[in-house]
Amino acid sequence: MTSIRLSNISKKYQDILAVEDVSFSLGSGECLALIGPSGAGKTTLLRLLAGLEEPTEGEIYFDEVYVKDLPIKERQVGMMFQTPLLFPHVKIRHNITYGMDKLGFSKEETEAKLEEVATQLKIASLLDRTPEALSGGERQRVEMARALVRDTKVLLLDEPFANLDIRLKEELQKEIKEIQKERGITMILSTHDQEEAMFFGDWIGILDHGRLMAFERALTLYENPSNVFAASFFGKPRMNFVDGKVHIVKGKMALELLGKQIPLERGLPEQEVLVGIRPNYIQFHPVGEFSGVIEEIQHVNAQYLYRVKCEEELLEIDANAPMKIGELVYFDIDMEHMLFFDRNGERIELR
Ligand code: ADP
Ligand code: MG
Repeated sequence: MTSIRLSNISKKYQDILAVEDVSFSLGSGECLALIGPSGAGKTTLLRLLAGLEEPTEGEIYFDEVYVKDLPIKERQVGMMFQTPLLFPHVKIRHNITYGMDKLGFSKEETEAKLEEVATQLKIASLLDRTPEALSGGERQRVEMARALVRDTKVLLLDEPFANLDIRLKEELQKEIKEIQKERGITMILSTHDQEEAMFFGDWIGILDHGRLMAFERALTLYENPSNVFAASFFGKPRMNFVDGKVHIVKGKMALELLGKQIPLERGLPEQEVLVGIRPNYIQFHPVGEFSGVIEEIQHVNAQYLYRVKCEEELLEIDANAPMKIGELVYFDIDMEHMLFFDRNGERIELR
């Protein structure tokens, strides 16, 4: 069991700041899903944790011990890379156990661990083949076995399922989560798939241009994001953002939104705000308070996603009911679930 703490980690390559001032703590046996666009610094951060790169600044601690003070064997880190790195023409069993002798594992120990992990990942029958004779899914399992075979306590997975078809992906995701929980492994995985992040992550970290924009419990991030970036990144369909204005009307606090004056029970200083509304908090209703015209329709799974024009704003609303482009529609917004952001995109709480 290993806890991880990063303190002000930065990594510079020539003049590129790939990771900038990242700090977080992860409890033993927890999983962090790192999500972010391509080039955000995910791979770099994982390589720093694996000890494959030195940070330009900052420190990494495993169980509150400075990582550089730990011999490699005691770090017990396994990493699965974005692109598989199996040696061609080398039998799978040797691909998996490569380097274990140097870590001080005896032949018998190595054999026992290989057998255990091969059984768990259902690749026992493949051990005497070479990588060329494996399918993509099998190769991924072998990579995983290699990352796990050395009594791994910290498992780092860099976009591990990106190249698998959906069925194989779901199967492997389930198995890996089981293994992680069963062995109490502390895991960090990178992905650009929000469903995958939600499936694995006890915590979700959003990286953008090397900076950690959010580090939150998965549910908090969805319900209670701390800035516009996190709010717009998460959730399908995405959160709607509408310009609003908080001001006093006849001595009472009101929100001007989509051409209406909405009384506010809790207050904000008078200011222009960005109002975030998740599509699931907007409901079509024959006598709804707001009205708009359907401009576009998209099918999402068994639902319709409507783009509705209302007072120069375009709102995305999902619903089961079939409607037509050009139709005049009425809807209500669940005011309790509106989120407010200031001009800099930071969340403002009502008081
Ligand atoms: P991600 O995995 O999120 O796509 P990376 O960590 O691979 O992002 O890259 C972050 C940034 O650092 C990118 O701008 C990338 O070009 C740069 N970078 C990564 N590795 C190196 C390297 N070895 N040398 C120079 N620049 C690098
Ligand atoms: Mg990457």
